[in-house]
Amino acid sequence: MPLTGIEIFKLLPKTNCGECGVPTCLAFAMNLAAGKAELGACPHVSDEAKAQLAEASAPPIRPVTIGVGNGAVKVGGETVMFRHEKRFENEPGIAVLVNDTMDDADINGRLERFKQLQFERVGLNLSTELIAVRSESGDAGKFAAAVSKVAKNSDGGIILMSTNPDILAAGLKESADRKPLIYAATKDNLDSVANLAKENSCPVAVKAESLDEVVELTTKLTEAGINDIVIDSGSRDVRQAFQDQIIIRSSALAKKFRPLGFPTITLPFEMTDDPMKEAMIASMFVAKYAGIIVLSDFQGESLFPLLVERMNIYTDPQRPLATTEGVYEINNPKEDSPVLITTNFSLTYFIVSGEIEGSKVPGYLLVMDTEGLSVMTAWAAGKFVADLMAPFVKKSGIEDKVKHRKLIIPGYAAAESGGLEEELSGWEIMVGPRDGAHIPAYLKSWKP
Ligand code: SF4
Repeated sequence: MPLTGIEIFKLLPKTNCGECGVPTCLAFAMNLAAGKAELGACPHVSDEAKAQLAEASAPPIRPVTIGVGNGAVKVGGETVMFRHEKRFENEPGIAVLVNDTMDDADINGRLERFKQLQFERVGLNLSTELIAVRSESGDAGKFAAAVSKVAKNSDGGIILMSTNPDILAAGLKESADRKPLIYAATKDNLDSVANLAKENSCPVAVKAESLDEVVELTTKLTEAGINDIVIDSGSRDVRQAFQDQIIIRSSALAKKFRPLGFPTITLPFEMTDDPMKEAMIASMFVAKYAGIIVLSDFQGESLFPLLVERMNIYTDPQRPLATTEGVYEINNPKEDSPVLITTNFSLTYFIVSGEIEGSKVPGYLLVMDTEGLSVMTAWAAGKFVADLMAPFVKKSGIEDKVKHRKLIIPGYAAAESGGLEEELSGWEIMVGPRDGAHIPAYLKSWKP
């Protein structure tokens, strides 16, 4: 059972030194109990107390890692129901399905799409992480061969799918060093699959026919010393599966109910035969609250929107996406090319740089660190104003790159033009468009 705030308080040093970011040990204890603070924030807690507090400070949904090295995928570890409360921690892993009855060409095609379907978006690389190998043949040899092929040709995390312990054991022989997720332990095979998970130190998924049965299975596994668990509630009805996700998350968070405090695995491909509907079901699970989503196959047109949705939902709402400060050269600029300045909010940067690139006019884009704020917000917050812009321009090194001294500022920062001309002696400040879409026309008429 997790400790209450008062129980935690009794184990803290009670010096009220405030180094943890709140003024008193009691406030810190309450935050810890509510999952809003981490024990590491108090540097004075004793080792003995640390051990006792480990339970209380653990995330209500246990983080589980599948795979090793670069291919490792961490799921779970969530602490809130809604991202605006804090943030969601670990993106759901997205898996492509490989059946052991598929021929080589089909398996190779899926592995190829797994590798190739990567997308760049606002400076981030969006890609998938997992390959689920399912025993459809019921033949341990065929399953082992499919697992071996996947393991040799991909560094992604692996999910071994069978309810037959002998078949799972054959798959583990080919992949145990990759720490795959063993899917699944059921009420009929629990002891044998639990032994496989223990012997190979691998995470294990439980598959049940109801949430009550999930609780029974996860309790037995934890009693057997297995803690890296993933939950499949068993429902293949979309509405019920959706409700299960919410009940699991809220039971773990609001009621601190440990038997449901594990990430979930969802199988949209078992809920429909229509690939587009499958993608829509998957998008529902991205939002609420899957740890792993297994798809029947990857196609760019359905995968890309899912990855963008996932990126948006798992972006920390308290930290805007930011681009690195610096001078960006676009379309091979020369010493007479225009110089523009903007803020380092990623969306602003990608819109402005995209418009300059699209204009085919060579140019320099100075991107100033405004803590990820857009032009208007940064200007209103006093972070994109003349007395900060001027030293940045001087330090940027742009004066060594161009012969002219003309700087184009965004239309939304027009009020800074006079001040900037005073601060940046020798420079002429030109007010550019407010809307990025008007940048190409503006640049085409620009003269040094
Ligand atoms: Fe108490 Fe530790 Fe916070 Fe200091 S840092 S106020 S000792 S909980």
